[in-house]
Amino acid sequence: MLSSKDEERKMLFEKAAEVKKAEVGNKVYFRGLVEFSNICAKNCLYCGIRSGNKNTERYFMTGEEVLEAAKFAYENSYASLVIQSGERSDKKFVDVITDLLRQITSETQGQMHITLSMGEQSEETYRQWLEAGAHRYLLRIEASNRELYQKLHPNNKKHDYDARLEALKLLKKVGYQVGTGVMIGLPFQSTENLADDLLFFKAFDIDMVGMGPYIEHEDTPLFKYRDQLISKKERFDLSLKMVAILRIMMKDINIAATTAMQTLDPQGREKALRVGANVIMPNLTPVKYRENYLLYEDKPCLDEEASECMNCLEARIHIAGDKIGYGEWGDSLHFERRKKSNI
Ligand code: SAM
Ligand code: SF4
Repeated sequence: MLSSKDEERKMLFEKAAEVKKAEVGNKVYFRGLVEFSNICAKNCLYCGIRSGNKNTERYFMTGEEVLEAAKFAYENSYASLVIQSGERSDKKFVDVITDLLRQITSETQGQMHITLSMGEQSEETYRQWLEAGAHRYLLRIEASNRELYQKLHPNNKKHDYDARLEALKLLKKVGYQVGTGVMIGLPFQSTENLADDLLFFKAFDIDMVGMGPYIEHEDTPLFKYRDQLISKKERFDLSLKMVAILRIMMKDINIAATTAMQTLDPQGREKALRVGANVIMPNLTPVKYRENYLLYEDKPCLDEEASECMNCLEARIHIAGDKIGYGEWGDSLHFERRKKSNI
């Protein structure tokens, strides 16, 4: 299916749209995205904010700025926030996040569902953040194949495949709605690798998936392989197929229409919604920080304030034939069912 063309490709997309409509409905849920800090202790070979990139000015949002973004989300009935950041596990960072979670929860009367995406942490930290108000956690496996993972990361303890896998297991054990994902069209990646990624999501019984095309960044070590990559058009098409196949395989999970898809195609997110995605993450990061959270080249909406971004998205979603689930948490149905069957 990943290699399908013409009529077969069309049938795949139609089937995925049909499954989406029947299983999760035509509702799209907003998660306001806050790119909290680009300070990162890691050095992933693909990422523009890796610690080794000295051409990026580092920032850390203030508590007031995060609360302001949470307030915007709350007042505009987003009901959900994603706080994403470079990975740090020092006590100061862990405590700052704990305080923020408590404040957001209290100021929004517990009405805001919060997703964190802050990389690998200890079980204790994951618990502390859950107790302080986080509900969901996104930790992409990046590439489920061990050898491929190793080619994308420095060869040291900080970038260990087993530790990544262990962190995903911990998140489940602690009680989060757990999301993972991969990059699509990476150097050294085969179609079989991508098929195995989909099987990995299924075997792991994941609740949410956020995946999108790999996009090169000139200040990263992987940039030198750019001539070996499939074209951006092919990466985008492969990403759409990944979304569609996953919707058919895992009917009741949440799947994000990612910003990286919009980067490669101006209508990328709408196209992803049509073939199975049901979550969108409008960017609420203050504009002054956005150019320093460049994970890859040509990242869109760098100068668009949250309210403009919202108007633009509303129009785009209606074009895709979906409705926005304003004021609804839009929790993963799969997570609800998983919890019930565990009782
Ligand atoms: N630091 C946390 C982590 O790595 O899990 C969360 C933030 S990190 C910037 C979020 C995601 O950005 C990563 O999981 C990775 O898949 C994606 N990313 C990084 N560099 C990318 C690139 N060049 N192209 C596409 N996605 C990229
Ligand atoms: Fe840091 Fe995440 Fe980028 Fe890796 S992908 S360098 S952990 S921000």
